Amino acid sequence: MQVLKFGGSSVAGAGRIKEVKSIIQEAATRHRTLVVFSAFGGVTDKLLHCGTLAAGGHEDYKEIVVQLTQQHLEAVKNLLPLTAQSPVLSMVVQQCNEIEAICNGIFLLREFSDKTKDRILSYGELMASRIISAYFIAEGLANTWLDARNLIRTDSLFTAATVDFETSNQQIQKSIPATDTHLYIIPGFIASDKDGATTTLGRGGSDYTAAILGAALDASVVEIWTDVSGMMTADPRLVSNAKAIDHISYHEAMELSHFGAKVIYPPTIQPVMKKGIPVLIKNTFAPADAGTRIHSGPEENDTNIRGISSIGKIALLSLEGSGMVGIPGFSKRLFETLAQHAINVILITQASSEHSICVGVDESATQKAKAVIDDAFSFEIERGTVNPLLVEKGLAIIALVGDGMKSHPGTSGKMFGVIGRNGVNIRAIAQGSSERNISAVIAAEDVKKSLNVLHEEFFEPSYKQLNLFIAGTGNVGSKLLAQILQQQEYLLNALRLQIRVVGLANSRRMYFSADGIDLTAWKAALDTGDLMNLSEFIQRMQKKNLRNSVFVDVTANNKVAAIYDEVFQKSISIVACNKIACSSPYGYYKKLKDLSRDHNASFLFETNVGASLPIIGTLNDLLRSGDRVRKIEAVLSGTLNFVFNNYNGEQSFAKVVHQAQTEGYTEPDPRLDLSGTDVMRKIMILAREAGEKLEMDHITNVSFMPPSCMQGDIQAFYSEMESQEAHFKSLFNAAAAEGKKLKFVARYEDGNASVGLQHIAPQHDFYHLYGKDNIVLFYTDRYPEQPMVVKGAGAGAEVTASGVFADIIRAVRS
Ligand code: ADP
Ligand code: ASP
Ligand code: MG
Repeated sequence: MQVLKFGGSSVAGAGRIKEVKSIIQEAATRHRTLVVFSAFGGVTDKLLHCGTLAAGGHEDYKEIVVQLTQQHLEAVKNLLPLTAQSPVLSMVVQQCNEIEAICNGIFLLREFSDKTKDRILSYGELMASRIISAYFIAEGLANTWLDARNLIRTDSLFTAATVDFETSNQQIQKSIPATDTHLYIIPGFIASDKDGATTTLGRGGSDYTAAILGAALDASVVEIWTDVSGMMTADPRLVSNAKAIDHISYHEAMELSHFGAKVIYPPTIQPVMKKGIPVLIKNTFAPADAGTRIHSGPEENDTNIRGISSIGKIALLSLEGSGMVGIPGFSKRLFETLAQHAINVILITQASSEHSICVGVDESATQKAKAVIDDAFSFEIERGTVNPLLVEKGLAIIALVGDGMKSHPGTSGKMFGVIGRNGVNIRAIAQGSSERNISAVIAAEDVKKSLNVLHEEFFEPSYKQLNLFIAGTGNVGSKLLAQILQQQEYLLNALRLQIRVVGLANSRRMYFSADGIDLTAWKAALDTGDLMNLSEFIQRMQKKNLRNSVFVDVTANNKVAAIYDEVFQKSISIVACNKIACSSPYGYYKKLKDLSRDHNASFLFETNVGASLPIIGTLNDLLRSGDRVRKIEAVLSGTLNFVFNNYNGEQSFAKVVHQAQTEGYTEPDPRLDLSGTDVMRKIMILAREAGEKLEMDHITNVSFMPPSCMQGDIQAFYSEMESQEAHFKSLFNAAAAEGKKLKFVARYEDGNASVGLQHIAPQHDFYHLYGKDNIVLFYTDRYPEQPMVVKGAGAGAEVTASGVFADIIRAVRS
């Protein structure tokens, strides 16, 4: 004996009902079978809508009744041969007339009681199961239709009735004798009370009907046929990578369904668990998929987390007050009051200080809860020993479920760590003493992000999705986009890292794509974008609230650098090659470092010094491991190095500078390089990273540039340099006469920093520095005489982009 239940989506349309028939036919060859049907997809909602409209005095309910009538008549016409249609069409018309008559009554009285609600809702299941039964008979699949109201007895708590199992079991066993071999068809969801009034088992209750029947008849299995291939590790509508769970214990399934996994109605498990009857969740649209088996488990040594779910529309009620400490009876009164007013408590937390009790309830119950609790505690509230009930709305519960948690320390640490890193604030936490469920109350808008990061953490530990918002599509930006495009597939396959550029902006336009911008055509996409507005770009990025978000600043713009503090507020990481933020006044640099730490977001700017050379990373490693910087000596300008390596008095200095600009080594404004400002910024950033509170005007800069070159625009800068050629030549000749080379050197020692041109002798580390190379010498407690040296190409769009890219990956892997 087996019970099969088909949900609304499985019977939404004639085509699907035909598929259902073949599934049942096939099943019936194996075992005696009983089939439970829900209403056609969406019908219950429509019936409820009808009644609500009528109660509100809106005559549109008539239009909905017409739609319902047509939908059912059409199903009959599509399924049954002409000769068999007439009695079924009459049944539909008669039932729809009843629906209309009841709605007319509701409309006149403006009253829609729970009892009437159940009466109206019952028509969905009644009509669907009768139409399907007639269709099967017409197709030669003999069956007997039974009215569930004669089988399942409940109390009179309409819309959520409680089953009287004793009476129900007797009625079921009497109506469906063990010896009988009929195929039975039964409407789900509905039952009746002792007076014969129609009741329902609660929304989604057809699953429960199947379990009640299965348990009463000692079925070998209860199969729930729906539109997904089993119970999934998370709600597939919110987590696209959710996978079907192959087996799960009754308790786990119950927890998951209680906490929002709609695929099975929570009370369903109880009757079958008692009898040890397994439940199979199967997909009507993919019957060959294995589905999920819910059984007594757990498997031995199984330490897995089984699933993650969520419930929306939660409100948190907090009862607080000094008068509660150490005095017994407060929680009793609170919960009694809630129970007396049928307010369901979903989650409870009380800190051991006993100063407050916090309960999570459905948002719809808040008004009532506030009134009844304030009333119950009015005496204490008046005396000021308890505060009026605090109500917070717009919340949700997320829950991690698995029997294996019990034997596995660290699960909650991992759970809160990962959502914390994504900037999700946790309002309350509860862990059942069964250690099967850890729940957290968070803001509703953070649910999708939290479910996804938790899913990645617990079910796809090697997989991570990274969401980039890139500002800047110039030299470095366009190279970065090309590198990401080139690496996307490799990163996904080799590192299970899915990199998506979801937002892109330059000074003119900004463009967003929820699925990630196609990087083969980013230019065209950006052209179709909105006009760039920095604060809107940031707002939209924050509003998207995507997991593992990184803001990538590949501009050289001070306005962009000035909004990093806003970006961190939402725990979005920042990767920047833009040096302006870190070389701003110390207060801002420090604020950003603190914000990044407080919000668990990465702040990486390795390319601020030496393009992709590991300079800042190395310095941080030295400091973290307990070393101390004594002195830094460095050649940090790829541009100046290029210029002095190529300038030998033959070609004019201005031409060599121009060549450096053409080859992409200079800052967008080359005067920042030539003046030494860029080098000052870099040595300052290194000094700050080493712990020094350094400002730009504390740095000594002995400029080699004639002041006249630094006035006017870039064109004037070049022509003035041409006319000052003799000055540059004399600088070169002075060094050459000593057999030395010119290098623009930065130094930091004992809190002092300086930059300037120096003559470098052949035995010095700086002498053999070619092209656009940078070099940094770290003298530290551990490297007092022979410094730690980092050397290599320190400028160029390609290497800078690759440094930014490496920081991006570091930002989410750390
Ligand atoms: P039916 O009409 O068959 O009763 P339901 O709509 O009640 O189907 O339940 C199936 C739906 O539950 C799925 O389509 C899916 O969107 C949703 N769902 C939510 N959480 C889960 C989960 N953890 N596993 C599977 N489905 C889930
Ligand atoms: N038709 C009912 C509902 O939509 C019962 C069910 O589908 O299980 O709630
Ligand atoms: Mg359902």
